[in-house]
Amino acid sequence: MNTVGATLHEATARLRSASPTARLDAELLLAHVLGISRTRLVASLPDTLDAADAARFAQLAERRIAGEPVAYLVGEREFYGLMFAVDARVLVPRPETELLVELALRAAARYADGQRLLVADIGTGSGAIAVAVAHHLPEAYVYATDVSADALVVASHNVERHGLEARIELLLGDQMTPLPEPVDLLLTNPPYTVVSEVEHTVRQYEPHLALDGGGEDGFALIGELIRAAPRHVRGTMLVEIGAWQGAHAVREAQTVFPAAEVVLHRDLAGHDRILEIDVT
Ligand code: SAM
Ligand code: GLN
Repeated sequence: MNTVGATLHEATARLRSASPTARLDAELLLAHVLGISRTRLVASLPDTLDAADAARFAQLAERRIAGEPVAYLVGEREFYGLMFAVDARVLVPRPETELLVELALRAAARYADGQRLLVADIGTGSGAIAVAVAHHLPEAYVYATDVSADALVVASHNVERHGLEARIELLLGDQMTPLPEPVDLLLTNPPYTVVSEVEHTVRQYEPHLALDGGGEDGFALIGELIRAAPRHVRGTMLVEIGAWQGAHAVREAQTVFPAAEVVLHRDLAGHDRILEIDVT
């Protein structure tokens, strides 16, 4: 029988072929199998691993080596310091998208007047943006939409998990059409890639509806969202974009909102990532 420590060590070596975060992946998978936190796992390194747990862990490690995201294997992912249920019905929330939340909280501070702040999250997926914003802004009321009914099932679990049923309304439908009224903050991380060009494990495991922005460079849906926005936003619009789409996004925004302030924000890797349009 192997110890927890030896099992982790061996699995890490094998995961290196598939993942730049091999040790972390191995720890997350083994902690999941044992039903304990990663911190507890470290305290259990000298313990022996029973055969059934070792077998379950080996299976998950094989799936990870084949490219399946750790988040799907363990059924959850941290985003903006909060835990979210995720599975193959939704995109795994990305760290870049935390910048969108940060900018949304900053914009909200400009509108803080003690009144209800209306927010929309278009293409909410797991609900990551909607939940993070509602969690941090007690005055916010959030319309979270998706064209995927399957994604909204996952989002509803996360809204409940964070006790936000009273302030997040999930709406099924295309783009902004389900919004019942204009909002102060219009947030969206829409699909913006060309599916044939994304990393092959992403293409293989994550929903294409969450990735395929349409058009030659993946910009089609973003363009439609910006052009529809004047009827739906009265404050700030924040849109996550592909690193290659900055100039196109700014041009579109300036055409549709000639009087607005338009700013492009870079992510931690230095890539153009969030388009901000301040209408007021
Ligand atoms: N907001 C989540 C996040 O940041 O992790 C998910 C973002 S994922 C890139 C895009 C989401 O938009 C998917 O959940 C997808 O189902 C949804 N979507 C795709 N086309 C849409 C459309 N025309 N109208 C509304 N939502 C759409
Ligand atoms: N970041 C995703 C990727 O790595 C794309 C997300 C999106 O299309 N909004 O492909």
